[in-house]
Amino acid sequence: MSGERTRALRARDKQFVWHPFTQMQEWNAGEPLVIERAEGNWLIDTDGRRYLDGVSSLWVLVHGHGRREILDAMREQMERVCHSTLLGLANVPSIELAEALVEIAPVGLTKVFYSDSGSTAVEIALKMAFQYWRHVGRPAKRRFLCLENGYHGDTIGAVSVGGIPLFHGVFGPLLFDAIQVPAKDDAVRQAVARHAEELAAVIIEPLVQGAGGMLVQPPGFVRAVRDACSEHGVLLIADEVATGFGRTGTMFACEQEGVSPDFLCVAKGLTGGYVPLAATLTTERVYSAFLGDRREGKQFFHGHTFTGNPVACAAALASLRLFETDRVLERVRRRADQLARGLRERIAPLPAVREVRQKGLMVGIELAIPGAAYDVCQRVRAYGVILRPLGDVVVWMPPLSIDERETELLVDATARAIEDCGGR
Ligand code: PLP
Repeated sequence: MSGERTRALRARDKQFVWHPFTQMQEWNAGEPLVIERAEGNWLIDTDGRRYLDGVSSLWVLVHGHGRREILDAMREQMERVCHSTLLGLANVPSIELAEALVEIAPVGLTKVFYSDSGSTAVEIALKMAFQYWRHVGRPAKRRFLCLENGYHGDTIGAVSVGGIPLFHGVFGPLLFDAIQVPAKDDAVRQAVARHAEELAAVIIEPLVQGAGGMLVQPPGFVRAVRDACSEHGVLLIADEVATGFGRTGTMFACEQEGVSPDFLCVAKGLTGGYVPLAATLTTERVYSAFLGDRREGKQFFHGHTFTGNPVACAAALASLRLFETDRVLERVRRRADQLARGLRERIAPLPAVREVRQKGLMVGIELAIPGAAYDVCQRVRAYGVILRPLGDVVVWMPPLSIDERETELLVDATARAIEDCGGR
């Protein structure tokens, strides 16, 4: 039973808030949870009920909620200055963070351009790649190659290189024309060779296409894309907005195939998931093409108001320090093994499950019954877990800080919810 305050908050939510990716007619007929606080890997609603945050508050949470080290770093920075622009000024945390990011990024990525969401990190990579080729005298190289089932955000450029018809179809007339191929070595190789003269860049989500349904790429795919790009003089954009910061078992997914992209897009987990911040890293080669006299107009004409926000950068620095002190990557590998066991023993044998896919702490459980994934994610709340589906796929994207017992709960609750929804 919900208390009076919760009912009143729900009514006001329905009156005033329009929720993303949500059919509001259905929402308005339901009884949405209202989250009030969080502790560790748990969300707590206005009735005091606790839920394991099984999708990391939309894939952002790294060290759990409320980590003192991140809060203190943010508070200390807020006392100094909450915001100062990077347009015409520098600030201390953004300098320190850029240096730290270059240190951990794949080799060759030496420059950091800040923004505030995954979508903007991608827009920046697309626009930089486009402008780069103009500066080096190859203006015909202005198109982008992207993958079927790809997702790079919801702004117009990011949607133009998106490959999920349900999300992207309606905006067709607004988009620029990208070349789209299946996520297969041969398809990418052939398309890059065929279109090399007009291609500015290829954009991929390395190792796993997240929003497309946790689609795990075959081993060697990222390497094959890198090689095709290098051979034919095309830039490579690695969108690690979802896969970055330890999610797949290494700091960045590209590392697993020894790949350095020309652009690396990061967001979500950059601040540990506490506040918005994004970055697009690129190479000396790209950066230096934009150098010249101010009156030549070669500068990169792009910048968001909160670019390089010092509080967000301080949070990110604190989060990166925690990777060391908490030995996060080791923990991810242990938890990934535990999830793999749970998938094998408890989930995959259920008749309602068509396929399970996993890379590190990114998991997709594809159900055979259309529409059932939504019901499972509603039902699993009764067992104290928050999940969110992607089409027919139930997603596990737990915080990297999830412990052994919480992992057990995640597996057990999901199995029971699938059974409850008719999938015995
Ligand atoms: N790129 C990838 C791979 C993503 O998974 C997402 C979001 O899920 C984005 C970009 C967009 O990020 P944001 O929602 O912060 O704009």
